Amino acid sequence: MVSRVIPVDPFDLVIFGGTGDLARRKILPALFRRYVAGQMGETSRIVGAARSEMDDAAYRDFVRDAVMEFDPPQGEAATQLDGFLEQVGYVTLDATGHGGWAELAARLKDKRAVQAFYFSVGPSLFGALAERLHQHGMAGEGTRIVVEKPFGRDEESARKLNATLAEHFDEGQIYRIDHYLGKETVQNLMAVRFGNMLFEPLWNAQYVDHIQITVAETVGVGGRGEYYDKSGAMRDMLQNHMMQLLCLIAMEPPAKFDPDAVRDEKLKVIRALDEVKPEDVVRGQYEAEDGKADYRTQVENKASTTESFVALKLHISNWRWAGTPFYLRTGKRLRAKVSEIAVVFKETPHSIFGAEAGRHRNILTIRLQPNEGMDLGVTIKEPGPGGMRLVDVPLDMTFADALGPDAEDVPDAYERLIMDVIRGNQTLFMRGDEVEAAWAWTDPIIAGWEARGDEPEPYETGSSGPEEALALMHRDGRRWRDIRA
Ligand code: NAD
Repeated sequence: MVSRVIPVDPFDLVIFGGTGDLARRKILPALFRRYVAGQMGETSRIVGAARSEMDDAAYRDFVRDAVMEFDPPQGEAATQLDGFLEQVGYVTLDATGHGGWAELAARLKDKRAVQAFYFSVGPSLFGALAERLHQHGMAGEGTRIVVEKPFGRDEESARKLNATLAEHFDEGQIYRIDHYLGKETVQNLMAVRFGNMLFEPLWNAQYVDHIQITVAETVGVGGRGEYYDKSGAMRDMLQNHMMQLLCLIAMEPPAKFDPDAVRDEKLKVIRALDEVKPEDVVRGQYEAEDGKADYRTQVENKASTTESFVALKLHISNWRWAGTPFYLRTGKRLRAKVSEIAVVFKETPHSIFGAEAGRHRNILTIRLQPNEGMDLGVTIKEPGPGGMRLVDVPLDMTFADALGPDAEDVPDAYERLIMDVIRGNQTLFMRGDEVEAAWAWTDPIIAGWEARGDEPEPYETGSSGPEEALALMHRDGRRWRDIRA
């Protein structure tokens, strides 16, 4: 199998916040990898734009260091870094001031086929950037803008942000990034569901007992304590990334793989979500252990009630899913770094093998990390003589094994998403109404905690979260899957 590189038009990509953490760790290394893959074209240009005083040469050094630190090129690719840097430049500017904007406009005068502006800055600057782009003649019809999370902190602020951007850009020009949607396995979810006959007929409340989605991290808030404490697991992970996974797993088949068809179906899932009962949500905060500080020590507010863990049960009220609960959990300082979705099918209605053979169920697990892939638990006869004993074994499909070396070359989420912006494909980006609907569902849950003054439950570092989260499943006669790398 040979991976194909689909050519894109020559482009200008301006990165506002080009000296920031996200640019260093993700955006710039991703662009270099696309250059190495031959996708950037000789005439495309990347321009970093931020407040730091810097010239082109200094920014090229910055970009070189970023690539070498976060995604050092191997073999032949290392020789291509200088060529890549020739296509990189820098303009010093302030989003809220006027200096630097005329220079940026002058640089982009001989426009490439596609012009994109990546807003890799805090959302408080989105409005100012949109306004300046407009004032300096860079907000034309063909312009695309890419905005990062967090997209608001509730429905009202998301609406305001959407309205601010809509003053200068059409919805078709706005690319709201959720990097989870750029992950290979996440897209595979759609391929598996809608490219096979095998699963879709079973993909409903009649055959699925429940679905669980876990996004577990081992790290704590680290240096991001101040930012994180203002959001918490619900806003930082559940409202966006996990909600997107939920939509892809639960949505109806879109008529075609086209941006609005897919996003319409995702929106319908969010709009069909029932309100979550307070007893169906558990919040947690990690405790100190083995020289690692507890949550409150790592943030400024020593009495913080922000959650570093959240687990909840939700229901989707539509024909497909009525009666099948979805359990979602995410948290920091847990046992292992794992992201997975498990579709747990119902038990067979009757066992012909007698009581001692036990009752078995199939579980389809979709792993986002580590070892991206899927496995399907099937029940077979335990080998050997003596009776009909049954065992569950995995039909494992780790993509790296199945697809050979090409699987290693799979572009990372940022590579894919940036190239989708250049191609003008919005399928893997969130539409404004989707984001607002997700907040509209999340807001009452958060408001409930605030009104009741709920305190998060403490949980041990390296555990699977608070006991109460385990109980959330146990009381339904179900259990979470182990958090295991
Ligand atoms: P950062 O603080 O490291 O960098 C911010 C960048 O914005 C810097 O280049 C700075 O010079 C520039 N900037 C700040 N004020 C400016 C102004 N007035 N005019 C022009 N430039 C200005 O932030 P970051 O971590 O790179 O995050 C950028 C955005 O991406 C944020 O919205 C963040 O929430 C989001 N994000 C970051 C990450 C991450 O891993 N860092 C992940 C997901 C989303």
